[in-house]
Amino acid sequence: MSRGLWVSVVGGGVIGLSCAWALAREGARVTVIEPDPGRGASLVGAGMLAPITEAHPTEPGLLAAGRAAVEAWPEFAAALAATGVDPGYRTTGTLVVGYSADDLVALDELASRLSTLGVDVERLTGSACRRAEPALAPGVRGGLSVPGDHSVDNRALLRALRAATDAAGVEFTPGAAPAPTPGSAVRELVGVGADLVVVAAGVWSAGLVPELGGLVRPVRGEIVRLTARRSTPVLTRTVRALVDGRAVYLVPRETGELVVGATQDEVGFDRTVTAGGVHRLLTDARRVLPAIDEYALAETSSGLRPMSPDGAPLVGHVADDTIVATGHGRNGFLFAPLTATLVAQLATGNTATTFADTFAPSRFSVAKSR
Ligand SMILES: Cc1cc2nc3c(=O)[nH]c(=O)nc-3n(C[C@H](O)[C@H](O)[C@H](O)COP(=O)(O)OP(=O)(O)OC[C@H]3O[C@@H](n4cnc5c(N)ncnc54)[C@H](O)[C@@H]3O)c2cc1C
Repeated sequence: MSRGLWVSVVGGGVIGLSCAWALAREGARVTVIEPDPGRGASLVGAGMLAPITEAHPTEPGLLAAGRAAVEAWPEFAAALAATGVDPGYRTTGTLVVGYSADDLVALDELASRLSTLGVDVERLTGSACRRAEPALAPGVRGGLSVPGDHSVDNRALLRALRAATDAAGVEFTPGAAPAPTPGSAVRELVGVGADLVVVAAGVWSAGLVPELGGLVRPVRGEIVRLTARRSTPVLTRTVRALVDGRAVYLVPRETGELVVGATQDEVGFDRTVTAGGVHRLLTDARRVLPAIDEYALAETSSGLRPMSPDGAPLVGHVADDTIVATGHGRNGFLFAPLTATLVAQLATGNTATTFADTFAPSRFSVAKSR
């Protein structure tokens, strides 16, 4: 990449920071514009890197990209850790468990569906699940072992990315890039004279880039953070559960934090944490892990997932001087390394890269092709 290229990255969530770091490592001069780092989904998300257990029948293209993304993680995490802050990357795998007989049928269907996609997962009895995770409730009837789904501590990751971008010379400008007016592009409105703008403003991206109109919708997720106290039983890996048909996950951290999530509601830009949402999460989680009654309640929060129509990211040029990097939906942490690499490649004019077509916003007819 030309040393003279100056890139403005709009948005300082996991996607904006990852792109900024990749661009700076390639030699670009990079400025990140961010009005309020606490507002984004990245501060809230659970940090599962879960292409297999997040695989959805209506999103067939996501599994291959997700598996490639998970493979990019060891190098990404090691490079981040080398800059001084450990991002809390864990490869301990995921256990998916079922509570009722119907939940076990649903897990069997999931295992068969995955098998047809070439992913073999091991079926476990209830007692095998408890041997793997002794803190699980006696009511857990069976499960699946998914060693390929990993996790990262989202907040440690954001700290690591901030340290890495600082070390790479990325500049930070507090403030918001204003929405475009008819006839003006977001690049001009950024007002810093950059050669290229990367819009990575999560659910707010569509308000900045008219070409994204109708392509990014907010899906609210409420989530609960608990802290293990001395002698409370802990999990050693992510447990995802079906409890009478409802999905809940429990993601443990080395720090003793346990993240319990998450609701999925289409309520526009409303980020209210509802009593009903928290009640539902805790009720289902304690049926899987009764010991959570003894955990400290540390935080309830919610964030807006930037969801695209087909669940895959929207990464690509919408104009010669504007790249978008949004639409990561439920998988922003998973895709961060892949998206950052793709953006750095596109910034150099390389459009023949892996997943460029899968992620191109122009796959939807309303988005402008380049
Ligand atoms: C409850 C929950 C659980 C989740 N769990 C997982 C998980 O386990 N694994 C996973 O991979 N993903 C998960 N996700 C999804 C993940 O959090 C998102 O996909 C990811 O955080 C999106 O990152 P982003 O950088 O695109 O957006 P954000 O993190 O939302 O960041 C966008 C940033 O843009 C800024 N911005 C907005 N407007 C402007 C402007 N005009 N100018 C400048 N900046 C602006 C905002 O202030 C914000 O900081 C979860 C999400 C939620 C809500």
